[in-house]
Amino acid sequence: MTRPRVVVIGGGITGLACAYRLRDAAEVTVLESSPRVGGNLVTVARDGFILDGGPDSWVAAKPHASALCNALGLGDELIGTRPETRRVYVAYNGALFPLPEGLVLGIPTRFGPMVSTRLFSPLAKLRMGLEPMVAVKLGDDDESVWDFIVRRLGVAAAERLAGPLLGGIFAGDPKALSVRAAFPQLVEMERKYGSLILAMRASRKAAAASGGKSAFVTLRGGIATLPEALAQALGDRIKTRSPVAAVELDGGWKVRLTSGERIAADHVVLAAPQRSLPGLVRGLDEELARLVEGIRIGSSATAFVAYRREQVAHALDAVGFIVPRAENTRVIAATWVSSKWPHRAPEGSVLLRAFFGGIGNEGVLQSSDDALVSAAREELPGFMGPIHGDPLFSQVFRWTKASPQPEVGHLARMREIHARIAAHPGLHLAGNGYDGSGIPDCIKQGEAVAGRIAAGG
Ligand SMILES: Cc1cc2nc3c(=O)[nH]c(=O)nc-3n(C[C@H](O)[C@H](O)[C@H](O)COP(=O)(O)OP(=O)(O)OC[C@H]3O[C@@H](n4cnc5c(N)ncnc54)[C@H](O)[C@@H]3O)c2cc1C
Repeated sequence: MTRPRVVVIGGGITGLACAYRLRDAAEVTVLESSPRVGGNLVTVARDGFILDGGPDSWVAAKPHASALCNALGLGDELIGTRPETRRVYVAYNGALFPLPEGLVLGIPTRFGPMVSTRLFSPLAKLRMGLEPMVAVKLGDDDESVWDFIVRRLGVAAAERLAGPLLGGIFAGDPKALSVRAAFPQLVEMERKYGSLILAMRASRKAAAASGGKSAFVTLRGGIATLPEALAQALGDRIKTRSPVAAVELDGGWKVRLTSGERIAADHVVLAAPQRSLPGLVRGLDEELARLVEGIRIGSSATAFVAYRREQVAHALDAVGFIVPRAENTRVIAATWVSSKWPHRAPEGSVLLRAFFGGIGNEGVLQSSDDALVSAAREELPGFMGPIHGDPLFSQVFRWTKASPQPEVGHLARMREIHARIAAHPGLHLAGNGYDGSGIPDCIKQGEAVAGRIAAGG
């Protein structure tokens, strides 16, 4: 039996995972516009430091990324966060407060730390404590993350806990993000347990039984180790510097490159980012292009600054801090990279990274790289205390239109998008921001498409 010809557009983690799964079942070609594969998964090694410019890890509880690493022989390279710094600070009126222990996705699970925290007034604490008594919302209406948290836990929790934590995951606006699309597990918990606090307590007990493992996982040599291993396994099935201009139906599927070359295929997998997709399919299906274009996409930047340990006064006893919108700063969050992970900075040095941008804060991204580094150097000490002298080095990574927003109405939009895709047999869609956003969900989508193609679908 002849193997199907599959062209995968986009050599990010989604496209690579799809191609890897199909490597024996199909004649697969990955077309990647840039000189390197991996898309958002970027690692730079310099002066003994390891910088993950975009994503730095994935959620351990979602199995697809770790399973793929194991399949590629990278199992021994998987590492978790340092156990001694597994806490987060939140900025409030310019100072850092430790988030109360026992929070899961910003939802309190322990009574003591919530009672003792200075982050909330007694009234706000009482409101949160009443959460198990709040009625369950029935029906399938979509709701924003903000409205959901306010309804269950009160305004203060939305402002200072769950809003910045949950919104920050998407560099998004919690008032616009859909709780059903972005955090379906929270909706499920409300439905099943009648209370987020009770549900989280149950899941915390299960997590404790698993030995207090890290909630996040990465790779010792940096996150790009994963796409590099996939690229090695796929060999010359990958064509870099091959930007696709359009997908056409002309006596079968044809993928047209900007060079003018046309490649025939039995299946085409659209795994390019959402910002590129409308241009690829407009000639084929205007409505599909319009639907994808309707998904809002956020932009952000990360600025790394490296120091000798003695230059930074703070104890750096956490993974970093988040800054709620009300603080009105340019830095929206910071990771103390060398406290969060082992192997990211040489002994005696520290690596910090500041986040800029996100929905509603994108004006700052007009600034030059030097201006972003200056902003980080001005604002980090305001939160963390003195940082003496110049950094050993700094480096900025820009993420323009790289964070699709699953906003209210996203699930209904995705039903329409899937219906349009299904109307074109042989055309497939997977990737960031469609049916999930993080690395494990991208791999899951890419592998699901591969499974359907291998099964003859
Ligand atoms: C700043 C930032 C931090 C993040 N942090 C995390 C995190 O900590 N954990 C986590 O799980 N997720 C995180 N994410 C999300 C994660 O990066 C994505 O879910 C995932 O990397 C998306 O993979 P992808 O393959 O779908 O898309 P991409 O990584 O965007 O890859 C798509 C590829 O398609 C190529 N391409 C584009 N146009 C064309 C064309 N016309 N022809 C051919 N090729 C084309 C691009 O060059 C690119 O290589 C973060 C995202 C950002 C932006």
